[in-house]
Formats: sequence, C-alpha cells, structure tokens
Amino acid sequence: MNIANWLQAAGQRWPERPALFEGHRQIADYRTFANRARGLALQLVHEHGVRPGERVALLMKNCCEYLELMYAVWWIGAVAVPINCKLHRSEAGWIADNAEAKLIFTDDGQVFAPGELAEGCCEQAGRGRVVADVGAALATPYTCTADHLAWLFYTSGTTGRSKGVMLSHGNLTAMSLCYPVDVDPVNADDAVVYAAPMSHGAGLYNFIHVRCGARHVVPASRGFKAQEVFDLAARLGDVSLFAAPTMVKRMVEQARVLGYAGDGIKTIVYGGAPMYLADLQDAVDTFGARLVQIYGQGESPMTISALPREVIAGRQRADWARVAASVGLAHSCVDVQVLDGDRRPLPLGQPGQIAVRGPTVMHGYWRNEAASRETLVDGWLLTGDIGFLDEQGYLTLTDRCKDVIISGGSNVYPREVEEVLALHPQVFEVCVVGEADEQWGESVVAFVVARDADLLDERALTAWFIERMASFKKPKKYVFLAELPKNSYGKVLKTELRHWLKEAASAAVL
Ligand code: AMP
Repeated sequence: MNIANWLQAAGQRWPERPALFEGHRQIADYRTFANRARGLALQLVHEHGVRPGERVALLMKNCCEYLELMYAVWWIGAVAVPINCKLHRSEAGWIADNAEAKLIFTDDGQVFAPGELAEGCCEQAGRGRVVADVGAALATPYTCTADHLAWLFYTSGTTGRSKGVMLSHGNLTAMSLCYPVDVDPVNADDAVVYAAPMSHGAGLYNFIHVRCGARHVVPASRGFKAQEVFDLAARLGDVSLFAAPTMVKRMVEQARVLGYAGDGIKTIVYGGAPMYLADLQDAVDTFGARLVQIYGQGESPMTISALPREVIAGRQRADWARVAASVGLAHSCVDVQVLDGDRRPLPLGQPGQIAVRGPTVMHGYWRNEAASRETLVDGWLLTGDIGFLDEQGYLTLTDRCKDVIISGGSNVYPREVEEVLALHPQVFEVCVVGEADEQWGESVVAFVVARDADLLDERALTAWFIERMASFKKPKKYVFLAELPKNSYGKVLKTELRHWLKEAASAAVL
C-alpha cells in the first residue's frame, strides 16, 4: 500500500477538480498535480538515481511544490525527510546527515548533496518548477507493503536532540482514515490551508484531503498571518487549518479587532501544546463551533485522542470546564492506557504515563536502537506525557514526565499552575518550570508575559494564586518577560527557560 496511490487515483477520478492553490489562485487541478508528482519522480530516478528506501530531504518553506515533491518521493518508494526551514543551518545539516539523505531540496529550486548545504539557502526566493513530459513511464507508484518507510519525522527537539521518527505508509494511511471519524469529516469542497509548517504536523493533513479530492491552499505569505487566513476563508470557503494554540490566540485577537466571527472557516484543529482554558473560552466565544482539538506526537502522528467540536462548543454543559480542559477521547484506531512507574495500568483518575498502541504508532527511531527500545515497550508507545482517564473516556494531560516539578516531595504539574495564572485578566502568556532549590529539592518558577506590565506584579499574582490553589504549588519566583521563547512550531522552549535560570543562579553565586 503506497500512499501515493491516493494521488494517482485522485488524478484519474477527478482530473479537473481544483487541487493546488497559491493564496486564492488555483495553480493545478488533480490531473496536473498527479502529473507533476510523476514528472518529478522521473527526475529523481533518472537525474539523481534515487532508489526505493533512499532518503530525500526537503528544506523548504510551505509551497505547493512541497506536496508535489513529497508525492514524487513516495511515488518511487523513497523516503521523505521534511526539515523545518526555520532551523539553523547546522541543525538542518545535522538532520540531513543523520537521515543520510541522498539529496536535499531547498527553497530556491536547488538540489544539494549532503554536506553541501548552502548558507541562507532557505531564504532565497523563486523556487524552480519542474515540468516534464511524463509519457507512460512510472505510470503507477512503486508497489510496497504497509511497513515500507514513508516519512522520517524529526521531532521538534524541545527536550534534546531531535530524533527521526520512522513513519510507514501504513502509519500514514491509518492516521488519515481516522481523521474523518475522530476529528472532522472531509468533503471535496473543503480547502485545507497550510498556515503552520508543512514539515511538521500541518503537512500530515494533506493525505486525507488528497484522498477526498479536496483543495490544498498555501497562503501567499507561505506562513501564518491571521488576517490572511480570514481573507482566504472569505474567498475560498470551507477552509480548515491546523493551528498551534499560540496561532489560535493570535487569530482570536485579530478577529476581535476586525469584528470577524469565522465566516468561511469550517474547522480550526488545534493541538501540539496546551491550550489553556481561558484561551479556549475566548476562542469559542469568537469562532463558535469551529474548533476541534487533537493530541498526538510525531511517534503516533495526530492520533492519540481528539476532543470533538460539539464538546468544545458546548459551553452550557455543567462539566464543560473539566471536559474542555481534557484532550478528548482516544482515537478509534488506538488503545490508550495510563501506566504507573512499573508500567502497570493505573485505575481511572490516577495520573501516570500515557501509553498508546495501534497502527499509527511509529516503527521506531531512525538508527537509534537505544531510544527505540526505551520508547516502544511490549508493543506500547510510551509517550513521555502524564495524564489520567475518567469514566467517560476523556483523557486529561497533566504534563510531560520531564517537566513535572518535585517540590518538598510533592508533584507539582506545571500545567495546572499555568492554567490558574492564565486566568488572570492581566496575564497574556505564562510558562512554569522547576528550579533547583536547596530546601525543597525544586521550587516553582513562573515566567509571565503581562498584557500591561504596569498593571501586574508579583504581589497581585500571589494573591490570585493562593485564592485558587494549594499554596505548596505557588510559584516562589515570578520572572516577567516581553515574550516567551518558542520554537517555530509555537511550542514554548522550557529547556531555554531552565537554562536561563541556571545561568542566573550561577551568576548570583559568583
Ligand atoms: P511533537 O511530537 O513535536 O508534535 O510533540 C508532541 C508533544 O506535544 C506531545 O507528546 C505532548 O506533550 C504535546 N501535545 C501534543 N498535542 C497536545 C495537546 N492537544 N495538548 C497538550 N499538549 C499536546
């Protein structure tokens, strides 16, 4: 089962259906999309000698050619290695080397061999477009089994060196077929907008939309601008997009300024990082029943759990705050368990490590046996996330295992402290980490971005906190920042904040 069969089938079945859009301008129908992918596939084989199983890296900003190139790679049974274009050249080079990529396609249409990555190659404009007379060659995609490797998905590396998650054609197929059941039904009239990097989660939405013959839209800015998304929605209609919680927050703010209420947007799928209840309330008030949450990780892409739109929009439910703070119900194709320290299942309500089993779970980390053995145990993926299940099957995430703060022998989950602080009307963003503390082992530190720095101080936050939560969880220190450090997927870099605290502590000792 080669996932490129879906594009071939779409090209035959709906040749004239609109497929690829740059902004609101259509640049290809499905026949053209499939032909271009096949033309590029021919080039990969004949000009570059790429063989099945070999890796081809893509170091490009979002563009329609991204999709053509990925399908070309799969068409010939090779493996796509999308690399986040915002990474530093040395980080991107490390990934290309680690994957032993045969070629690296960059944004300006150039092709590099590994080790030749040019300085600033990612910023150049004017991608080359390959047009080939495809004739009858490679008329059908390479035949492979479901286990054949398709995508080396490099983790965002917020907790260390990025690892190459091995995703097969079977993983991607299972993930895509769950989407209409668990997240959002897809129709031919839909338009998926790639506003977040296609090298990561956003790129995964392409499959089901190809399968259904829907439209693929790359914003003209090739990135995320809230107003641009609103304009595209107004012009194209039935727009869906994946947005990290920080992107949703920006959309809400911009929508409020413009008096926009979501016209033309069908679905905003959010996930990848915690969405605080205060922000979710604002989003529901602004956009209504347009939000769906997913919880997943590269190791089980998009597919651990989902929180359905009617639950998120059901503000009148007595238990809304509880269920809306969860990450929803297990996807239909996976089993989810919560395990104790000895990897035994825990009773409902008790927090432990979340484990997942099913056809979406990765085949391991690329050439990293040790990490694969630690993470895939007895057929279960150990996610490194802590959470608990309730009687109705809702899964609530408390935190990453590595982020839990142990203060005076008690566990403090940064997420719950963040939720309380985020509710303060003057708090724009917050992130909580642990700091080494001689007396308590670790103490709680909150990094806060204020809406108006003159109207917020430590005293006000402490008063707010102790009215709402046990005082042993109270931050011992507040650090006010103009913004939080984030990676290009919108995830807050806790490692950087911890590092900053360590440096500040050692400077104080000197
Ligand atoms: P990545 O593999 O880079 O996409 O990161 C996956 C991690 O992001 C998960 O293991 C979670 O810690 C976090 N994450 C993903 N989805 C959510 C969500 N809906 N809510 C909170 N955290 C999430």
